Amino acid sequence: MHFTSNDRPLLFDLRQRVLSASIDGHPVEPSTLVPGPSGMREIGVPLDQGDHELLLQYELSMPGCADAVPLGWTLQRPGIVFDFWMSDLHPGRYLEMWVPAPLCDDQFDLTLDIEVAGGGPHQVFANGLVEPGPTGGHRVTYPSHFTSLSPMLVMVPVERYDQISTHEDGITLDTFKLAGPEIDLAACHVTVAECLAHNRGRFGDYAHGDRFLTYVWGSTRGMEYDGATTASVGSLEHEVFHAWFGRGVKPASASDGWIDEAFTTWYTSSAPHRRQWAQPFDWSEPPLVLRPPSPLARYTPREAYGAGARFFAGVASVLGVDGLCDVMASLYRQRRGGFLSTDDLESHLSGAADRDFGPEFSRWVHGRAGST
Ligand SMILES: [Zn+2]
Repeated sequence: MHFTSNDRPLLFDLRQRVLSASIDGHPVEPSTLVPGPSGMREIGVPLDQGDHELLLQYELSMPGCADAVPLGWTLQRPGIVFDFWMSDLHPGRYLEMWVPAPLCDDQFDLTLDIEVAGGGPHQVFANGLVEPGPTGGHRVTYPSHFTSLSPMLVMVPVERYDQISTHEDGITLDTFKLAGPEIDLAACHVTVAECLAHNRGRFGDYAHGDRFLTYVWGSTRGMEYDGATTASVGSLEHEVFHAWFGRGVKPASASDGWIDEAFTTWYTSSAPHRRQWAQPFDWSEPPLVLRPPSPLARYTPREAYGAGARFFAGVASVLGVDGLCDVMASLYRQRRGGFLSTDDLESHLSGAADRDFGPEFSRWVHGRAGST
């Protein structure tokens, strides 16, 4: 891992057990890199300002974080079925499960050389460039604007997946699933294409180059990546929407991830839940923390989905449903490929409505008691 030292603490996360470490070729005792209370590790060694190299050795095993899954060895065709299995819901669930990573607003180059020993050939699906590895296997190079929540990686033994690929409106759509689960892959592929076209028309240009990659799986959950998703059939619309809000415009810190889930749920939720609705703010509703105050908290509260969508319904009661969509579209176009903080959102909405949403953000985003 290459990094630049300045006068700020040098923090990174890795949810694997470090066996040995060195900085610029000098051995470092791994115990000096143990995680602090937040789960972040600090490079506490005095370093000159400038560029340095941290080398870590560890055996890839079950990540030490909530709801992780181990490397999945399959015997049907010997090899692994592997997915990064990221999540916004718990700290340490982005790239740092497997690879050392900084906070989710840091952009960095990432190259992975991957080899599977003891199995047959594998297919690598990734939202980066996949090439033959230098000593066999695969090399995956992700774009330098990616952050720790961007990279998608799925590995499966060859001949154990089904794939549909088409080229539509300048985007190559690759949709695949494992052989086995009863999933209508063709219908899923059409859903992805329709959602991409709809979002582009409503909110603005696609932000992730010329490809969208979808892994449809039997799990009930879904996860968004830059121009890619791992999704259940039922979550496809939600996850494709995140290519605009969540990964087209990324959270400025992990604490700002509530915005993506709240607005995505408000826009895409399906029966029995309401979608794209307006409901005046109700000051008898209790305060709520959607944005955890600590920059190192690094989780999205589960309330971001339901109560967060209800918050946007309150904004829509002021701006109108179409008005809110227009305002979010202008926000997206201003920041496409960049980041969005909670304060940025509050000032953008307030400016568009010519009305201060500060009291509402204070009560139902920051969880502070008090009312107008
Ligand atoms: Zn989501």
